[in-house]
Order: sequence, then C-alpha cells, then structure tokens
Amino acid sequence: MLRILTTVFTLVLGELLLQCSAVPVAIADGPVPLQRPKVDLAILEQELNPTDFNITCTTRDSDSIGIFSGNPNLNSRWRNGYIVQIAPQWSKILSKKYFRDKIIYFYISGTAQAQLIEGARYEISTKICIPIMKWPTGSAPSGDYVYIQKGGSGSGCYSDGIGRRGGRQIINLQDPGCVTKGIIMHENIHAMGFHHEQVRPDRNNYITVYPNEIVDGSKRQYPVPNLPGLVTFGVPYDFSSIMHYGSYDFSKYGNPTMRKKDDSIIVKQRNGLTNNDVAKLRKMYNC
Ligand SMILES: [Zn+2]
Repeated sequence: MLRILTTVFTLVLGELLLQCSAVPVAIADGPVPLQRPKVDLAILEQELNPTDFNITCTTRDSDSIGIFSGNPNLNSRWRNGYIVQIAPQWSKILSKKYFRDKIIYFYISGTAQAQLIEGARYEISTKICIPIMKWPTGSAPSGDYVYIQKGGSGSGCYSDGIGRRGGRQIINLQDPGCVTKGIIMHENIHAMGFHHEQVRPDRNNYITVYPNEIVDGSKRQYPVPNLPGLVTFGVPYDFSSIMHYGSYDFSKYGNPTMRKKDDSIIVKQRNGLTNNDVAKLRKMYNC
C-alpha cells in the first residue's frame, strides 16, 4: 500500500514539475513596452519565408465584418496603447532535459517567428504616437488586448476585430502561410481600427468590383461601400496600401475580382506601410 502511495505521489509530483516547467508563467504587473528587435527583419523574413512572397495564404480575414467597430469616433481606439500578447505556441520547444525519469521541456523565448511578430509591430510603433505594449508570453493579461495565436493549416490570416473590442481579441496567423512581416502588420492594423482599403466609402470612384468572380463565401470581404462608421480621414485612396487586396485574391475562376477604373490590375503590396497608411493611423490616433 505504501509503495502504491509513494508511486502515486511521485507521479503527481512529477506531473506538477512537468507542468510548471512546460508552461513558464512570467510574473508581470502589466504590459511592458516593445523592444527594438535585435535582428534585421529582412533577414528574418528571408529565413522564415525563403520563397519570398510567393507563399499561399488563405487570408481569410474574417475581421468580424458586421461588427463595424472601425469607427474612430466610438470606443474602438486603443486609448492607453495598443496591447498584444504572443501565444506561447510561437516559442517552440527547442530543448528537453531529463529530471529523474521525467522529461522537462524548456521553452526558448524569442524564436525567429516570435521576433518577426514583435518586429513587425515595433516597425508600426515607430510611425505612430500611441504606445505599443505587450504582455509577456505566459503572463496572465487583464484588460483589453490582442492575442496572437498560431493557426494550423487552412486556418487563414485574420483579425477577429476591427479596432479594440474589449477584453481579449484574436489575431490568427496560419503557420506556415501567414508569418510574414507584411501580413503581420496587416492584421495588426485591422486590430488597431482599419478595415480593408477597398471597402472605403469612396472605393467606387477608384475600383470596380466583380462579385460574380469572387469565391463563394468570400463575397463578404467586398461589401458595398458606406459601411457604418468607416471614414477616409481625408487621406487619398491608396492602391498600394498594406490594407488593399490584389485583383486576384479570392478569385473564383482565376479572373480579376476587381480592377482599377482604368481597367488595370491591382498588385497587392505587403512589404510595409505606405505614407497614406501612416497618415490614416496618425489621424485616427490624433498624432
Ligand atoms: Zn485583412
């Protein structure tokens, strides 16, 4: 009997040790400022996405279209700073050690993917006036924040809110597929309050959308303009915005789903923020 109890105790203790080691919980009083990335993002990008921008991403962009919280005059702005937590999934298990007969896993923080996610946000932070903060991975956040989760195959790249929704909201990055600097920035800008450029209320002056060419189920990504609350901030329409789709996104038959008014094709740009992207962010956040 004693032997059984001892065995059970050892197993329980072992499990506790395993759990404690496998999920390190950082103690944090609150979100902390982002640090300038220690590595060159271009090098990271190349390392993680050696095929350059030829990756296929479903770019589902669910975006909770229907929750038109992108209205800068309502409560969707991040008044006390834009706050994000990166899921522990991004810190892969890189090493393991043995403790008696138990394997103790060690998470190495700051893997390449996590650095790219942080670096992309840091790059946004250098261009706007609100602080961009983070809850350390593994800490227990409170208040309003964005949780960047790692999605499996087919899960897509999306933000489940446009602007601050209150409490925890999700950015999903499919891996592989969505972990590029441009896509990370795109989804963060959704969460900061911007919808896609092609749904601006003035979009029909600049583009023609062909609903019959859009994949079934994705037509909602191209709603008619004049969605409640969306404004242009007086910034010119920008085909090169990091928030603009390309002509062939969500194409049902391989034909363009939209064209410029002069019939030319829109080439998607996901390298960085354009001056107009920055201008809109600054106007929204009163920079
Ligand atoms: Zn999007």
